[in-house]
Amino acid sequence: MQNQFRKQAIDALADQQLRDNFRGAMDFLRDKRQSVFPEQDELAELRTLGHQIKANTLAQLPDLLEQLEATCSQNGIQVHWAETAKQGCEIIERLISKHGGKLAVKGKSMVSEEVGLNHHLENHGIECVESDMGEYIVQLANETPSHIIMPAIHKSKEQIAHLFEDKIADVDYTDNVDELIGTGRRILREKFYKADIGISGVNFAVAETGTLCLVENEGNGRMCTTVPAVHIAITGIEKVVAKLADIPPLLSLLTRSATGQNISTYFNMISSPRKTGEKDGPEEVHLVLLDNGRSRMYQDELLQQTLRCIRCGACMNHCPVYSRIGGHAYGTVYPGPIGQVVMPQIEGLEKHGEMTEGCSLNGACGEVCPVEIPLPDLIRELRQQKSALPSEQRTTKGAGSQRKVKEAIAWKLWESLNRSPLLYSAFTFFASRFRRFSPRSIGPWTRFRSAPIPAARTLHERIKKRNQQSQQNRASGGEL
Ligand code: SF4
Repeated sequence: MQNQFRKQAIDALADQQLRDNFRGAMDFLRDKRQSVFPEQDELAELRTLGHQIKANTLAQLPDLLEQLEATCSQNGIQVHWAETAKQGCEIIERLISKHGGKLAVKGKSMVSEEVGLNHHLENHGIECVESDMGEYIVQLANETPSHIIMPAIHKSKEQIAHLFEDKIADVDYTDNVDELIGTGRRILREKFYKADIGISGVNFAVAETGTLCLVENEGNGRMCTTVPAVHIAITGIEKVVAKLADIPPLLSLLTRSATGQNISTYFNMISSPRKTGEKDGPEEVHLVLLDNGRSRMYQDELLQQTLRCIRCGACMNHCPVYSRIGGHAYGTVYPGPIGQVVMPQIEGLEKHGEMTEGCSLNGACGEVCPVEIPLPDLIRELRQQKSALPSEQRTTKGAGSQRKVKEAIAWKLWESLNRSPLLYSAFTFFASRFRRFSPRSIGPWTRFRSAPIPAARTLHERIKKRNQQSQQNRASGGEL
């Protein structure tokens, strides 16, 4: 995994089409967000409120999860707990198999990507069709999403037109967007009718009422959660909120930050399976609550802030690195700034520590995050942890795993040198006298820069000399 991110980023930078696709899309999203947050004071207030709601939620997370389980159960929603990604997949697969299900339709869910659900179900003979248009395109192309809100943002309409022509029977090339959408709809409609199971994510789970909230624009989420006889929702444990009153500000922050919309086209609130006398809705609703490393994040006071994320994607849209290399270069389910923080914590610094270096620490992500997650601070902390000595107090998996002995020795020497005035002057004295022998290459640091050459005289010597000269000047001036 070492150097994988670096290599993929370099490849992505060389792909002009990809860069054009991203540049256009990111500019569009940034402008849209700006247009729905015209008042800076209003935005600041709303962000603070969003921060407070999520921080209060985290402060009582274990209790809220218990309450959510109780209220959901009272409503007839069956709750399952998954500690790992594997357990999450197994629970869903068991539920589908119990009903003899062979076809599932899925609404957009990053958590299902996180656990690798499609792959797991496929291995057990269950077809799982993505019903969000972007996800459907990505699935058809046998790729993964490159953005958490807009999975197919890396593709141009011409590329999608070629994909449809190649992969869907009896479809001719057209780059007319309406026709392309129409084709997708026609195919997905059939899948909705035939599916035994509907799978969805959850944007907010309300502990007070046992309500699962789902934000979407295409109506496919509504189809997945109402047409099939069984609905299975999967979500990370951090998506719980205390009460219904918490939803409006969070929803407003989510839709405005994500797509620059004041409100999404659909907002679904699922609070039970179909009741007697009701004409639609599933007969069974299941909720899978996934941990997958989140409890570990929860134990660290600083890194715990990661769990405030509402997955709006604004940090990616404003990241100068992400907007040039795109999501696939990161090689992870969650890319961009939030990915740099989440992935090393979920899967370990030994695997994903390197991606924390793909950050210029310009701070834009932290500035736009609607729930005020200090992303640059968290990235810095993880960077430091990946090369620091492992410590009992650290909760991140793989802390210290990317520590290089040569680097550690160099920094230790640097520290000792700067702590001792005697050593420092000896070092600078010899460095200036033997400057011709200073190294011309210092690992990756000098790949795009020239190595610094020590000055001919040390700073102390130069200041001393300057002082002597001014004294002499003053003395000669006095004589005059
Ligand atoms: S870290 Fe903030 S900006 Fe990024 S996806 Fe999460 S909530 Fe949105």
